[in-house]
Amino acid sequence: MKNFTDQPLLPGSTLGVLGGGQLGRMFVHQAQAMGYFTAVLDADPTSPAGLVSHHHIQTGYEDPQGLAELARLSDAVTTEFENVPAAALAALAAQCPVSPAASAVSVAQDRAREKAHFVACGVPCAPYAVIETAEQLAAVSAEPSAAPGRPKQASAPLGSVGAYLLPGILKTARMGYDGKGQVRVKTPAELAAAWESVGNVPCVLEKMLPLALECSVIVARGADGATVHLPVQRNLHRDGILAVTEVFEQNLPLALIQQAVAAAISIANGLQYVGVLCVEFFVLQDGSLVVNEIAPRPHNSGHYSQNACDVSQFELQVRTMAGLPLTQPRQHSPAVMLNLLGDLWFAQGDAERTPPWTKVLALPGTHLHLYGKREAKRGRKMGHLNITAATAEAARATALQAAALLGIAPF
Ligand code: ATP
Ligand code: MG
Repeated sequence: MKNFTDQPLLPGSTLGVLGGGQLGRMFVHQAQAMGYFTAVLDADPTSPAGLVSHHHIQTGYEDPQGLAELARLSDAVTTEFENVPAAALAALAAQCPVSPAASAVSVAQDRAREKAHFVACGVPCAPYAVIETAEQLAAVSAEPSAAPGRPKQASAPLGSVGAYLLPGILKTARMGYDGKGQVRVKTPAELAAAWESVGNVPCVLEKMLPLALECSVIVARGADGATVHLPVQRNLHRDGILAVTEVFEQNLPLALIQQAVAAAISIANGLQYVGVLCVEFFVLQDGSLVVNEIAPRPHNSGHYSQNACDVSQFELQVRTMAGLPLTQPRQHSPAVMLNLLGDLWFAQGDAERTPPWTKVLALPGTHLHLYGKREAKRGRKMGHLNITAATAEAARATALQAAALLGIAPF
């Protein structure tokens, strides 16, 4: 049984992480840079984080021996994968300090609970209905599609059911990522077929909203309740996957930035959250802000902070779990982040190629991050390119040049 103390875990301690993906890898790199030892639990012997960690426990998330070994090696444990079974986090928490807590992660794992939390925090989300039974499906579909006076905007009664949710997006309540587990539906018949196609698992039907843009905020909250945050990120998604993040002044209206930060902090406070939390938002065409979802970990949209801020999201993760002081990060350079999907390895047809790294790195202010994945696949996140510059215009211009070289569509 570990000592649970209020004292910070100093460099030389061992920090553990559940999950061996790219987020775990970048956490491990940061923790090691600060003088910590690291332990990763992931069954895959070639997982991106396992490959670079001091310790790699190669078991599944539910293996009690693997979890016990992680707890034995680590002075504190965090997670990089939001679908780690909450029971595994809870079991670990009996043996060593774990952040974020299982209770917070379990909310983020379930879209229905997540939305209920947004409502409880008074932060507007898309009108939605929970679909767990055939009766609930019928209730959604039975409503007349154009009932007069039916609210059509995000201000509609939260959680109310009805065909005003169509056209909508059916999302599985659990295990969705990168747009997987989502079906766009226009009619009650399509909705019924979509529910069937996902295996009739519990889902949330969300109204399709008229988006003007998307943004996100990374918040870090310490055990003492102190919060700091990164600047608000503006995100471009393509095919349900984040493609580009841009962060610089005047990229978003100030009032919107303030609203998004306040909403993200209230969502973190409401969860008694300890760690790094990403809150994703939609900005609608009428300018209103609607929360989309949360991720209980660093997020793809926060990667620019590695090269554009004096404290990155991974350093925030280390600091929160080690109980070190949190200071408000400062962005020192305008930044653009390009996601590098496996498609870029096939940009010239079916034959695999190496993307033109030399040409890309000849552009000033380009920072290449690759995750060490052996095999490129379409849609697979292989890495990202951060572009920093003295001005927003220069960062955008360089990013567009890099995108053209890589075969990423302009933005
Ligand atoms: P990720 O894990 O990559 O964030 P995800 O699988 O959790 O993705 P969502 O964030 O729910 O998926 O949705 C992916 C994208 O689909 C959003 O970023 C947005 O572009 C679009 N989208 C989702 N819900 C809606 C909606 N209600 N109205 C309009 N567009 C939507
Ligand atoms: Mg999302």
